[in-house]
Amino acid sequence: MISKILIANRGEIALRVLRACKELGIASVAVHSTADGDAMHVRLADESVCIGPPPSRDSYLNIHQIVAACEITGADAVHPGYGFLSENAKFADILEAHGITFIGPTAEHIRIMGDKITAKTTAQQLGIPVVPGSDGEVKTEADALRTAREIGYPVLIKATAGGGGRGMKVARTEADVIEAWSTARTEAAAAFGNESVYMEKYLSKPRHIEIQVFGDGEGNAVHLGERDCSLQRRHQKVWEEANSPALNVEQRMKIGQICADAMKKLKYRGAGTIEFLYENGEFYFIEMNTRLQVEHPVTEAITGIDLVHEQIRVASGGGLSVTQEDVHFHGHAIECRINAEDARTFVPSPGTITHFHAPGGLGVRIDSGAYQGYRIPPYYDSLIGKLIVHGRTRVECMMRLRRALDEFVVDGIKTTLPLFQELVSNQDIANGDYDIHWLENYLAKGSA
Ligand code: ADP
Repeated sequence: MISKILIANRGEIALRVLRACKELGIASVAVHSTADGDAMHVRLADESVCIGPPPSRDSYLNIHQIVAACEITGADAVHPGYGFLSENAKFADILEAHGITFIGPTAEHIRIMGDKITAKTTAQQLGIPVVPGSDGEVKTEADALRTAREIGYPVLIKATAGGGGRGMKVARTEADVIEAWSTARTEAAAAFGNESVYMEKYLSKPRHIEIQVFGDGEGNAVHLGERDCSLQRRHQKVWEEANSPALNVEQRMKIGQICADAMKKLKYRGAGTIEFLYENGEFYFIEMNTRLQVEHPVTEAITGIDLVHEQIRVASGGGLSVTQEDVHFHGHAIECRINAEDARTFVPSPGTITHFHAPGGLGVRIDSGAYQGYRIPPYYDSLIGKLIVHGRTRVECMMRLRRALDEFVVDGIKTTLPLFQELVSNQDIANGDYDIHWLENYLAKGSA
């Protein structure tokens, strides 16, 4: 049993986890940097501990301070949220060594999925379809040229240790391959401290579709359907929806079952997301995230399952609350990530929120730590909240989203709300007709 959870995160996700703790009657500890003393997750937690100065490496990424905060407060578990230490295997190991439960998978599974080549090989062994590509690392220029010839142009050279959409280069000709292979290695060494790169076929017009999975660590696992996260800017998700407008029930259940079966074989524990590119009816694995995702609320909306409750339950040894037969999908949900950024240039806009009015009504959920008078610090990512809307059909969901966006007021800073107002009225979006390049093309046309 878990009696007190330390939430090793900030912002909307810290608040999200806190809400689950309150519902389950588990005591909560917030940690915060000196820049976040007045944050909502700190105000609402049962206890809070200041763990350092504003830069993340000195506070939210400071493992020793976080372990010390657990010991001072007597927290017996840590929820890492997403980002920060959520996919840090060393952190999971250290907590375990201190007898503190890490609410997430085993350190071993985090390690396997954190290295992209190992992740891809493992996925393939587990029966998950992958993008055609090199057999592991591409070590020499000759290797790169031979592999590109085998898989066919265009190809993508990716850093093994890459992440956050960084460390990728497209090559369309042999000359490109020679150039991209060597610059990708140099850049990967500088950015990630690991020069290893691999190659994949570059898919030209895919959608990004991911499957939510959940395992109990004992060989039981379920899938909770998919999310379509194709609307991206610089590989960062902007709008996510469930179900995907591109899949039918048979396709959903088929890929979902493949993923759930893979997690059973792996004896995976906790929440995970298996990410795919989807083109011409085929799924191609790109990576697995071994944590809760930003966009998890759309899955909660259509399944009615609280993913954080489930994470805590599994971490306490209580197993999954559902079997696959218990999982049903109702209606449609869309999430908009509201960032403190200019909606046209995407330049961050920290500062004080002078007026804040969140929309409400049936089917509308706001996950946000923002409030009137809150000062957004300049040190962290610019996500200030998520608007999640649910309806019985996609059409109803879009109607509700349009109305909710109209009600939403955030003054004093710039936000990406105007972008969503455009998207919700766009014909391609209404038709569900978009791929991973759609948003960038739209923005390049200057329509935003
Ligand atoms: P990261 O860990 O940096 O997020 P991913 O492997 O998940 O890297 O890829 C991020 C994004 O890059 C994908 O959502 C997609 O937009 C693009 N991408 C990745 N692999 C390919 C590929 N083989 N072909 C085309 N686009 C790709």
